[in-house]
Amino acid sequence: MRYISTRGGIAPISFKDAVMMGLASDGGLLLPQSYPSVSSEELESWRNLGYTELAFEVISRYVGDIPENDLRNLIKRSYSTFSHPEVTPLVKKNGIYILELFHGVTLAFKDVALQFLGNLFEHILSERNQKLNIIGATSGDTGSAAIHGVRGKKGITIFILHPHGKTSAVQALQMTSVPDPNVHNIAVNGTFDDCQDIVKELFGDLDFKEKYSLGAVNSINWARVLAQVVYYFYAWLRATDEAVSPVSFSVPTGNFGDIFAGYVAKKMGLPIDKLLLATNENNILTRFINDSDYSLGKVVATVSPSMDIQIASNFERYLFHLFNNDSDRLKKAFTELKEYGRISCSTDEMARVRTDFCSSSVDQEATLQEIAEFYTETGYLLDPHTAVGVKAALDLLPDNSAKICLATAHPAKFSETVELALGFKAPVPASVTELYGRQTRCEIMDADIETVREFIVTHIG
Ligand SMILES: *Cc1c(COP(=O)(O)O)cnc(C)c1O
Repeated sequence: MRYISTRGGIAPISFKDAVMMGLASDGGLLLPQSYPSVSSEELESWRNLGYTELAFEVISRYVGDIPENDLRNLIKRSYSTFSHPEVTPLVKKNGIYILELFHGVTLAFKDVALQFLGNLFEHILSERNQKLNIIGATSGDTGSAAIHGVRGKKGITIFILHPHGKTSAVQALQMTSVPDPNVHNIAVNGTFDDCQDIVKELFGDLDFKEKYSLGAVNSINWARVLAQVVYYFYAWLRATDEAVSPVSFSVPTGNFGDIFAGYVAKKMGLPIDKLLLATNENNILTRFINDSDYSLGKVVATVSPSMDIQIASNFERYLFHLFNNDSDRLKKAFTELKEYGRISCSTDEMARVRTDFCSSSVDQEATLQEIAEFYTETGYLLDPHTAVGVKAALDLLPDNSAKICLATAHPAKFSETVELALGFKAPVPASVTELYGRQTRCEIMDADIETVREFIVTHIG
């Protein structure tokens, strides 16, 4: 399999090169040249596979330049860190399915992708005798999952900036309690935007980037999307019997990575009826799908903070396909966005958008109410992100196909909000309680690029 850029500016590259490139060098996003299709017979033959075996079947179709046994081992190691034997179990509550994606080390679905990406990086770096210095900014979830994905890995050093005192307590502890010497936490006296601006500026300094082999772990890496395609297949196989019935998925969406993985699964032939894109008050994607209105607004802080995003970076991958893989059309759309703060699509294009997705925006009040109602009816606790998806599914998905809601975080990770909804404290798993006794390690710094740069240069691998 070879990879191309949405902006059309690079010659096709291999899987390993695509993983190491991250963002395409022409500023676009990398995509496979085609999507391998899975026949219904093949799909049936996967019914009894365990998670890692299924992951190998799906992922290997996109690789081609890693020996089969190495890839199998790498996948096995990535998912052996999950606390549930099924990795992503599917549970049924009140007639809807909940796909629990939070059994990884940091209790959010990002572990599914970042455990795999960490092992992939290590494999490729050792083969090429190279080193990588990862620098990233986080509001909480991505940073902790990235740190746990690369801790102790050979050839990799990671620097994660987070806004000091502005993440949840559990998120901060998951980052700062990691003792491995290749992990560096920087707590910035400022906001998440300050952190992101510093990281952007460091990456913008091309000499610095080149000299210190800087890399990123944000959600634009193709390998992250690929790892997430697997659980759509897994959930479909668990929710259906041999009578091949279509299912619908509800996906709480921020950067469009998770739901794009569902779109890829559908393109590969998985019988998916609806892909429901669920948003909070930051609803640019809902406005686009329902009202053809893709115009930038301001980011609003909500009780589902990992979805508080205006520009969904992975959306470019979908737009490229919507525009029939026409890079010029795509570039025109982004020029329009830059100049006028909006993207416009034709009637025909919008009709296709609506066959691919439906969408609903759920505000904070409705989110808190859903957490409380679902708990009263089923005794099951939803985290605020998952609650957005469940509420949207109950409102919008048809009853004639199975409804699967992606549970993107464990409720204990956002216990403050869950408590607000229920009026009492939710039970906390031992893995979280344990965190409070650990020694922590973190550098507190002002939001000043030179201070951060100096720290990185003196601690680089
Ligand atoms: C990152 C995240 C999301 C959004 O996922 P995207 O791939 O960015 O759409 C939703 N819920 C939780 C808990 C997250 O951490």
